[in-house]
Amino acid sequence: MIVVMSVNASAREISDVIARIREMGYDVHLSEGKERTIIGVIGRGQPLQQDLLALLPGVQQVMRVTHPYKIASREYHPDDTLIPLNGIQVGSEDLAIIAGPCSVEDRVQIIETAHAVREAGATALRGGAFKPRTSPYAFQGLGEEGLQYLAEAREETGLPIVTEIMDPQLVPMVCQYADVLQIGARNMQNYTLLHAVGESQHPVLLKRGMSSTVEELLMAAEYILSHGNTRVMLCERGIRTFETATRNTFDINAIPVLKEISHLPVIADPSHATGKWEYVEKVSMAAIAAGADGLIIEVHLDPENAQSDGRQSLKPERFAALVEKAKQLAPVVGRRVAAPVTA
Ligand code: PEP
Ligand code: MN
Repeated sequence: MIVVMSVNASAREISDVIARIREMGYDVHLSEGKERTIIGVIGRGQPLQQDLLALLPGVQQVMRVTHPYKIASREYHPDDTLIPLNGIQVGSEDLAIIAGPCSVEDRVQIIETAHAVREAGATALRGGAFKPRTSPYAFQGLGEEGLQYLAEAREETGLPIVTEIMDPQLVPMVCQYADVLQIGARNMQNYTLLHAVGESQHPVLLKRGMSSTVEELLMAAEYILSHGNTRVMLCERGIRTFETATRNTFDINAIPVLKEISHLPVIADPSHATGKWEYVEKVSMAAIAAGADGLIIEVHLDPENAQSDGRQSLKPERFAALVEKAKQLAPVVGRRVAAPVTA
């Protein structure tokens, strides 16, 4: 249920409504938009007296939200959520371009890659230090050492760091290094982890599980939001289908669907969606045209010898060409690729 307050509702009227809802045993989540305040009523208190709430001064409308996600829904938060990242607002007309290797492999690799992607116009640097690998024998990442190299790369280039977290107990440690916590596809429904990052207040990039529906993605986002962290970016990274020509199938539909039913920014990951570097630029352009708020792209200095995901990684010069294409396409769909403050 949401309570939509009138445009001219007073602070007193808003706090009276909140007090009334709490008396009924519900939690309150407040959305203070440009125009009006919307109060989300969440939980399982005594049966909600909808009519009674509708009569309170300053209330314009009481609406039932029919989706299982509430705080993630557009009804609750009609304005787009904007998340600051390196001088831009993710979710606004400025496209976020996050780029870097799948894994941090060594100090020189990540620092050189950071310089290269910054030159090309990236907004932020990605790189995994904790890697969720299908095989226990594959490279598992450098752990905290990798995070230290990422922090060094940020110091040198000014690029904020996006890196994956897998263990809820490591949230405080990873937050010391990361600007954005990435939840990987394999952990999208790790509820203990979602709870922990929800309490952290750190921006989150939440990847769609490889066999998850849009609704399940939004329910995962709801876990984070309901623990008080409002800075969640959703990420479409391809889903499993019967198709084997590509690593995953990029669900382009998910972008306009998510933008319609949720206020959260949507980032596209054409690298994991295709699994082949040859398709990354084309699918990136399709994602921008479909309304994505940004891209996350794997870039490697020497893809043939990468420790992970070399097959889908772009060399820096190809990444630079992709950014140039994005600059040309963006204005056609009301977007732009702004020069990051660190450029
Ligand atoms: C990654 O970003 O390198 C990664 C492991 O992605 P996903 O969780 O989408 O597979
Ligand atoms: Mn990867």
